[in-house]
Amino acid sequence: MSASVQDVLALLRPDLQSFAGYSSARSTALQGDVWLNANESAWANPADASGSSRRYPDPQPPALLQALAGLYGVSPQQLLVGRGSDEAIDLLVRAFCRPGVDAVLATPPVFGMYAVCARLQGAPLLEVPLVDSPAGLQVDLDAVIATARGQGARLVFLCSPSNPAGSEISAADIARTAQALQGQAVVVVDEAYIEYSGQPSATALLAHYPNLAVLRTLSKAHALAAARVGSLIAAPEIIAALRRCQAPYPVPQPCAELAVAALQPAALAATRARIDDVVRERARLSDALAGVDGVRQVYPSAGNYLLVRFDDAQGAFDALLAAGVVVRDQRAAPQLGDALRISIGSTDENQRVLAALSAWRAAA
Ligand SMILES: *Cc1c(COP(=O)(O)O)cnc(C)c1O
Repeated sequence: MSASVQDVLALLRPDLQSFAGYSSARSTALQGDVWLNANESAWANPADASGSSRRYPDPQPPALLQALAGLYGVSPQQLLVGRGSDEAIDLLVRAFCRPGVDAVLATPPVFGMYAVCARLQGAPLLEVPLVDSPAGLQVDLDAVIATARGQGARLVFLCSPSNPAGSEISAADIARTAQALQGQAVVVVDEAYIEYSGQPSATALLAHYPNLAVLRTLSKAHALAAARVGSLIAAPEIIAALRRCQAPYPVPQPCAELAVAALQPAALAATRARIDDVVRERARLSDALAGVDGVRQVYPSAGNYLLVRFDDAQGAFDALLAAGVVVRDQRAAPQLGDALRISIGSTDENQRVLAALSAWRAAA
């Protein structure tokens, strides 16, 4: 039997089902040319040359929604824009999980915000570890489904490409998981790095699985981390429910303008060329690192980073730092006691990594 979006709305916290949220000065479609309803200044700040920051912004700027909807191949009604996908993760947990009752499921080692948001909400955290296999650190979807069903998960976060593991989940496996968890949980696919992968987005599955949601961001491949523009893509009814739980003006006007400019054809073409550069550099750096003395393993990666195991991860970290290269120490993460995560930089930056590691081993 196929599920309806009503079954998914029923998973929202019961106390929020009829919650109207804050009614802001911009949330009703009033007409006029003298705007005196939001206690804004009548004058622009001298530093605000265009005057575009004088008024509160549209909660979901239409030009930005339109541009993002075009980019992701969905309708604007399926999109919620916020302060990075981090805000969407927080909103999902707050809207779907009753403290102490409804669990969040994550697959460590993985991006830390799922666990952080669960903790802040007081939602139980279920952890299904990635499994190390010849193909890399992979999600055990049978274990995810069994745990989510058996222990009351409301939200299941699947990170694909996975940070920091680099592995991917196929569309068929995402579909199978969403199908198995109908009426039980929303399956959230975090696609922060999908631009670097060869896989299609899980948005293609949304029409068949109303309990599926997808996270996208402009922070990584689009190089706008500081603008804080992330999207949640899901059924329009779910987006509407989450909008009622969101802060009144979540998208600052200067950030919306920058994001819209970044999604014009010329900028997009440049972004696509950069993505190709990163994919090429990823292959080159991966091959080169595999040949460096003291490197135990370089995991295959579909993201803009490599997860690397070392005989002496502390030594490698210190040698890189001494050469001015800062990488992510993963040693506190489960199963990663000997691993560092290295973002793919420019060709010169990647050369610095290789040079520092070679010099370190030559001196050893
Ligand atoms: C970087 C990252 C994010 C956060 O993205 P923002 O849009 O900047 O909040 C989300 N998920 C994963 C897996 C990430 O690595």
